[in-house]
Amino acid sequence: MASPQVDVLIVGAGPTGLAAALLLARRGVAVRIVDGATEPNVYSKALAVNSRTLEVLQETGVADRIVVEGWAVKGASLHERDREVLALDLPAALGVRQAMTVLPQARTEALLADALQAQGVTVERGATLLALAQDESRVTATLRHADGRQEQAQSRLLFGADGARSATRHALRLDFAGSNLPEPWLLWDIGMQTPLDPWRAHVLFEPAGFIFVLRLAGATWRVIGNTADPLATLRRYGTLDGVAWQSQFHIGHRVAARAGVGRVALGGDAAHIHSPIGARGMNLGIEDAYVFADCAADALAGDMARLRDYAVLRHAVHRSVVRRIGAITRLVHGRTPWLRRVRDGVIPLAGHLSFARELMLRTVGGLDHPLKVHP
Ligand SMILES: Cc1cc2nc3c(=O)[nH]c(=O)nc-3n(C[C@H](O)[C@H](O)[C@H](O)COP(=O)(O)OP(=O)(O)OC[C@H]3O[C@@H](n4cnc5c(N)ncnc54)[C@H](O)[C@@H]3O)c2cc1C
Repeated sequence: MASPQVDVLIVGAGPTGLAAALLLARRGVAVRIVDGATEPNVYSKALAVNSRTLEVLQETGVADRIVVEGWAVKGASLHERDREVLALDLPAALGVRQAMTVLPQARTEALLADALQAQGVTVERGATLLALAQDESRVTATLRHADGRQEQAQSRLLFGADGARSATRHALRLDFAGSNLPEPWLLWDIGMQTPLDPWRAHVLFEPAGFIFVLRLAGATWRVIGNTADPLATLRRYGTLDGVAWQSQFHIGHRVAARAGVGRVALGGDAAHIHSPIGARGMNLGIEDAYVFADCAADALAGDMARLRDYAVLRHAVHRSVVRRIGAITRLVHGRTPWLRRVRDGVIPLAGHLSFARELMLRTVGGLDHPLKVHP
């Protein structure tokens, strides 16, 4: 079955696809957004919304809602052998409204979907991209609906925001080069009574790795660690009770060979993945959405070179962010005794050097590169 042509078909209704749909719809572009999942995601990988995201979502009203619903992280503390060895204060140093706001990803997605709905666009769920083809004037996507029906969906442009295993990226036959860390990282959302400052993120350096601790809401904390038993370590910092969510995940650092081909572009995890250290994945995807909306609107108005601008601008940003987060991850990971010595000695010292401190703060705020919509 063939369907009428829209301006932009967005594949994937995670934070990247929702933000792209919203920003395009607000410009009067006819968008359609589909997602293979029949229900919205209820689990939240991302918790931290950074300053760059608040900047790009400001015009939509969603930034204000995130700030009202979430809470502002005051800073980050680094602990070694149960002692705080470095404290970084976030907003004051960056001179921005909020460097980092804690709001579970499922709520950020819900706020984006509500704002999109207010523009008259509803996410079409249970619609999975199987294949795509493009010619000089349009893209044809083969979608499979939940009832088994197949549709040939036509659009002038397509934005693939369909996550790390992106069918869009596969259809474009783009490499996703990079590497994976060998061990799984463990995650808990768990109740904790602790003297740790609840308004700060905490990183605990351990001989066998690291543990990251951030309060989610109330007395529930997010714990991520790559040691054998992070909860055993955490009991030195407080008493634990009631696991709300437990999971594990594998870390890869990969960038798609290109961020777009012809009338098809990639954004979010479809184009780049890296460790959650620095809290960049969702935020970088929302920034992709912002730049794509600007370039796509110009392309739809006749300036097709703007699609190439998107691909060139974003590929450079993806490569540099993934490279930086990969290097920080290897250091924090401290897998070899030599790296551990560097980590335990250099990071606390670097935190007292103003340029290194500024770079750390800009990295977590998403402000380590300018927001460019033109080359
Ligand atoms: C433990 C953990 C903590 C994290 N913390 C943070 C953080 O604090 N801050 C941050 O910025 N990032 C964080 N991240 C990363 C963040 O969660 C991801 O980068 C983010 O979800 C990517 O959003 P996305 O929209 O690009 O892709 P996704 O969220 O993966 O969404 C892709 C969507 O596409 C749909 N889809 C997939 N295939 C198809 C198909 N063929 N057809 C149709 N639909 C399809 C899926 O159903 C899904 O809804 C964290 C990640 C992890 C693992």
